[in-house]
Amino acid sequence: MKVRIGGIDYSIVMSFGLRSEDDGQEIAGIIDHEIATIGLDAAMASPVMVKTLWHELFHAIVHTTGLEVPEGMDDCKWASTFGYAMVQLLADNPWLGSWNGATQDVDG
Ligand SMILES: [Zn+2]
Repeated sequence: MKVRIGGIDYSIVMSFGLRSEDDGQEIAGIIDHEIATIGLDAAMASPVMVKTLWHELFHAIVHTTGLEVPEGMDDCKWASTFGYAMVQLLADNPWLGSWNGATQDVDG
């Protein structure tokens, strides 16, 4: 799978036993902007996988846009907030995932 963010196609790779390159700790997801790859731990339950992907997508959005996180908040905390918010929004409003802006497709 690939996802295009800011004109860059990131590969999404799922694998078991994903670990941080920094400290070897187990991690749920990781993004490498140099090789445009998002890694996800394949052992995660599906909803957690989706949340983690949104978390990593947020990191990519920050990276590609130069967006700055609010002072006093680290980018992973902000990405987690965004990740959970996106999962909840799409779960509660499934039409959002495929809506193309056409007014006749909006119900209510
Ligand atoms: Zn993060």
